[in-house]
Parts: sequence; C-alpha cells; structure tokens
Amino acid sequence: MMESQTEGVCPVCRERATLKCSGCKQQFYCNKDHQREDWPRHRPACKVWEIHENPDLGRHLLASRDLSPGDLIVSQSPLVWGPALHTDQRVCVGCGKQCVSTSTRCNICLWPACRPDCPGLIDKNRHGLECLLLVRGKVVPRCDVLLVVRMLILWRKKSKQWAALEKLQSHDDSRGPGTTAYEEAMSICQHLERFLLENPAGKDIVCKICGLIDVNALETMPPEGSVAIYETACLLEHSCLANTRHSFAIDSKGRPRITVTALCPIKKGDHLSTMYTHALWATIARRAHLLETKYFSCRCERCVDPTELGTHLGTLKCPHDNGFILPEDPLDFESEWKCDSCPGILTASEVAQFTGKLEEDVDEVMSHAKKDTLVDLLSRLTALLHPGHQQCITVSHSLVQLLPANDQKKPELCKRIIETTRTLDPNGARLALYTAVVLRELSTCPGEDEKRLLSEALNLLQFEPPNSSGEKLRNLIEAEL
Ligand SMILES: [Zn+2]
Ligand SMILES: [Zn+2]
Ligand SMILES: [Zn+2]
Ligand SMILES: [Zn+2]
Ligand SMILES: [Zn+2]
Ligand SMILES: [Zn+2]
Repeated sequence: MMESQTEGVCPVCRERATLKCSGCKQQFYCNKDHQREDWPRHRPACKVWEIHENPDLGRHLLASRDLSPGDLIVSQSPLVWGPALHTDQRVCVGCGKQCVSTSTRCNICLWPACRPDCPGLIDKNRHGLECLLLVRGKVVPRCDVLLVVRMLILWRKKSKQWAALEKLQSHDDSRGPGTTAYEEAMSICQHLERFLLENPAGKDIVCKICGLIDVNALETMPPEGSVAIYETACLLEHSCLANTRHSFAIDSKGRPRITVTALCPIKKGDHLSTMYTHALWATIARRAHLLETKYFSCRCERCVDPTELGTHLGTLKCPHDNGFILPEDPLDFESEWKCDSCPGILTASEVAQFTGKLEEDVDEVMSHAKKDTLVDLLSRLTALLHPGHQQCITVSHSLVQLLPANDQKKPELCKRIIETTRTLDPNGARLALYTAVVLRELSTCPGEDEKRLLSEALNLLQFEPPNSSGEKLRNLIEAEL
C-alpha cells in the first residue's frame, strides 16, 4: 500500500529518497531543498481529495488516501467574502471587523468602516474598486447587500473567481418566482436598482448569486458576522456526523483563509463531510432546515435512527404510560409517531403543534432565565419529554450554570448533557465550548474527578479561534488547573 511506503525516488535528482511530503504523503524527496525546488510542479498533485459527481450530491469530495485525525485536507483563501446576507450588524467594508462606533465611515462611499484609515479601504484588491462602484451606483449603505455587490463585480469582470463560483451549486430551479428566496433576491435588486441599471442581465445574476451564497457560504470566525465561499471547501457535503473540522485565520491580504482537517480516521474513498446545521437540533428541525436552505435531504446514520443514536433528542413521553413516542420513519416528515409501550399514535402535525408550543414556552422562560423558573420549567418538560430531548438539554444547560456545586440534581443534569454531546459530536467539532462549560460545572461538584474533567474541557477547547469565548474559557481553565 502507498501509505506504508517508507522510501521512493526523488523526482529532482532520481536518488533514493526518504523524506515524505507531509501534505499528500505520496511523494518522496532526498532533501528539503529538492522538495522546495519541486513544489511548483508537485503542488497541483499534492492533495488528499478527489472531486466526484452524482445526481444526488452534485460535485462532492472523496478522500484519495487514508487520513488520520488532524491531517490537513484543504487550506484556501475565499473566492469571495463579505457580511452575511441577513446580517443586521455594521461590518467594516475594508476588513470585515464589526464596527463599534456607528459614525465611522469610508470617506468616499460613506459605507461603515472600523476606522477612517482602515488599510482595507484604499486597497484596490479589497474595498478600493467596489467603493467607486458603490458611489457611481448610488447604493445606500446596507451591509447585507455588500456580498451581492462584490459578486456582481466579479461577474462583470468575468474574473477567474466568477468562473469558479459559477461551477458551485445554486439550485436556481428551486428558487424561482413564488419562493421566499426569489422575493429576497428581488428586494436586493430593488436596493441595487441604479447599480444594476448598466447591467440589464444583472437581475437574473442576482438570483443566482443569492443561491450561491445561501447554498455555499460558510460563516467565518474571524471575522465574526461574515460569510465566505471557497472553491474546494464548499464541495464538502453535509452529514449530521461530519468527519472534518474547519477553522479560519486572516491571510496576508486580509481575507479569512479556511483550513479543513480530518476529525477522525477517514478511509480512502470515504465521503468528506461537514455539518451545515445545528448539532443540537432534533432530526425534524435539522432536516427541514437543510431542505429549505441547502435543498438537501439528509439520510445519515443519525437521521435514519428514530432515537438519534440513543440520545432521544426528539423523543416525546406518552401521557398514558410514560412510554416513549418515536417517529415510525424519521426520514418522512409526514410519518406517524408511536408509543413504544401502548397503541398510542400521534400524527406528524400533532407532534409539530405540540413541540412548537413547547418551544415557545421554553423561549419565553429562557429569555429571562432565573434558577427557580428553570427548575420549574425543567420539571414540567420532563413530564412531557424524554429527559434527553433537545428542549430538556437546552434548559439543563442554562440551569447547571446557575445551580450551586452542592445541588443534588446538578451532577445528573451535567452528565446527561455531556453524554449527549459526546455521542453527537465526539470530537468537539461543533459543541466544544457548549460541552466544556458543562464539564467545568461538573468538576465543581463534590466527589467528581476535577482534574480529569477540566483536562477534558481543555482538550476540547484546543482549536477555539483567537479572541473567541472558547479561548477565554480555555485561559480561565488553564489558570484554574
Ligand atoms: Zn533529490
Ligand atoms: Zn505532496
Ligand atoms: Zn476595517
Ligand atoms: Zn468606500
Ligand atoms: Zn443527517
Ligand atoms: Zn403509551
């Protein structure tokens, strides 16, 4: 097998070579100098993925060799990036940072800026070009249309970024007249009316651009509040049990560069996946969200299991006999729900109505959470829901942070949350901070192994980005240890 090979032939001098390229682990060199010399030639071949295509998934990525946790899969700068489509935040048009002051602006176009001398404002490759076009098109500042403007400029320039963007999925067929997506695109067109005047084809392109953003854009951090589209990383398919993790760092040109690494051992030929929805939403909510935003029907191992891998994130309690009520077919939105110990049956719409009402109640109480109201809410919820239900987990998560260390219920609640997140996100790709908070709470309870729990929390938090809440908690725990 290629993977076990320990030597080869250096492509530069044809000598015996034992230095392995750490990227693809396929190419050998006699020394570092020859490796550097060969890099321009080797670069296009040095990858651990292949693009495949089928009608269900469109273009997607498969591993082209076995991967170990932490192995680099993709590191690339975005084709385009900017404030999220639905953002209401003020984001600097020069660098993407959130603006603290509401009065600092670009001197020329008057769009928001972090400070009047932000270096991104005058840079031709950043705000410089769009600034003139925003002025000429008399576009009233509204951060949520900026990314569309940036993509329109790439389209008009027939840039190589546009050529790559055009190849990504935009699901135009599902976003025609009569859909919310279409209405949203039209309202953006209206806002850009003068800007679009010079480009009669612009309207159709705006629809396509909104599709490209909705389907492909990844939320970046840093900078917070922005989204970005990547040529290769956006080909990662969704799975509710994803096998990659990604992080962002600002590159030398001020753009959020993405780094995708393997989260767990991956076999050659496996699909490479990421998670495009919330990890702690129950199956119905996740699948509805994916269908609505990504036009994708997930059929992963977690989605096909009515118990969601034993976590019971969506399971209801039967009012007659305390049995558990689960969907017959979790992949069918219209499926009936059945009690596991009596003939009780609920229709899909009864379940939707019931859980919708509960969610409202929970949101209401959580908006001004106090210890006693949460204790009360949780006891009402556990009479109606499996204790592992999404809503019980949500309430427990807030409650454990308010309970004193000697509260008898605290360890049990903590352990339930940790068990759930360990099952659904074993490597902390999505829920690292969420879990670490609870590990730290549990560590304060009498009789718990404080050191082990805090070390586990630190381990989860090792990939948290600079200046994030995750990093702050990591520093705090390090100090405590
Ligand atoms: Zn050599
Ligand atoms: Zn290589
Ligand atoms: Zn700035
Ligand atoms: Zn400007
Ligand atoms: Zn799934
Ligand atoms: Zn029953």
